[in-house]
Amino acid sequence: MKSPLITNKKILVAGGVGFLGTTLCKKLLATGNQVIALDNLYTGRQDNVALLQNYPEFSFINHDIIEPIDISADLIFNLACPASPPHYQRDPIFTTKTSVLGSLNLLELARTNNARILQASTSEVYGDPEQHPQTESYRGSVNPIGIRACYDEGKRCAESLFFDYHRMHGVAIKMIRIFNTYGPHMDPNDGRVVSNFIMQALSNEPLTMYGTGAQTRSFCFVDDLVDGIIAMMASPQEFTGPVNLGNPTEFNLLELAHMIIELTGSTSQLVFLPLPQDDPQQRKPDISLAREKLGWVPRVALREGLEKTIPYFAEFLGQQQQSSVNFFRSEQLI
Ligand code: UDP
Repeated sequence: MKSPLITNKKILVAGGVGFLGTTLCKKLLATGNQVIALDNLYTGRQDNVALLQNYPEFSFINHDIIEPIDISADLIFNLACPASPPHYQRDPIFTTKTSVLGSLNLLELARTNNARILQASTSEVYGDPEQHPQTESYRGSVNPIGIRACYDEGKRCAESLFFDYHRMHGVAIKMIRIFNTYGPHMDPNDGRVVSNFIMQALSNEPLTMYGTGAQTRSFCFVDDLVDGIIAMMASPQEFTGPVNLGNPTEFNLLELAHMIIELTGSTSQLVFLPLPQDDPQQRKPDISLAREKLGWVPRVALREGLEKTIPYFAEFLGQQQQSSVNFFRSEQLI
């Protein structure tokens, strides 16, 4: 077995019981670390807390990073922020506060603990990109007053805070820009395209296609992504990033929909709905830098990743159906 990149560390994971956080915590716990997850459960899930509590070296603190916290750690991962458009647009002011005030609080913690800190930034800093594929040097095309700005500009401001803490206080920072990711532990009601399409296909309901379906995304399987996050945290101190992490194989949404219908054996059709405001037309990472500096490339192709993901959603739907049958039976008994 390859020796772990990170071991014997006390690690704080903000957003630790969300989609990416859960897989990250599992991997860090499996390689001999102590992990403390901070989460306000806004989009993080109680199910994930229960799952991670099977590991003796795991602990959970219900905390909102908008408020300062004092806790010791060697390494800090900041994954805390709702990331799905319907979730981050639900309370946009709160989303901005989470990125900006949350980053400030965790950077202060890193400074006082002399800890290394990684920020989960996003491909959304490129907005609706005019450069394709996107390299890290591309400065982006963000609408600063649009409905996505709370997320995009919040994350951009967090990037600037990280680099200012690095320049002013010598804090050891790591910056990653995450592209669309999917896989087990996603919230089934997340509202993003992969979870929506799989849930709809499994229920034989129409797949909700926003716009024509010609827009593109590049989908990365969660295990690949988290391996990249760990490799970045473990990389030499002088490599701060930003570095793109994502799968560079691009699909349009019609291709994605048809693949999901085929893999689930669904009878679903497509229903075409209006495209949301400022929805990026295309997105695909240039991952040359990650390959060169981290030796990282994603290994799981979309079809294989979907095959690993569909059973997770099927199990969730099965549990839901079972609990409504149980509810119906108990109602009849009364
Ligand atoms: N989308 C869609 N149907 C859905 C959810 C999303 O057609 O049920 C589209 C959305 O408009 C966008 C793409 O899928 O063009 C990816 O959206 P998602 O919310 O997954 O992530 P984004 O990359 O926009 O942050």
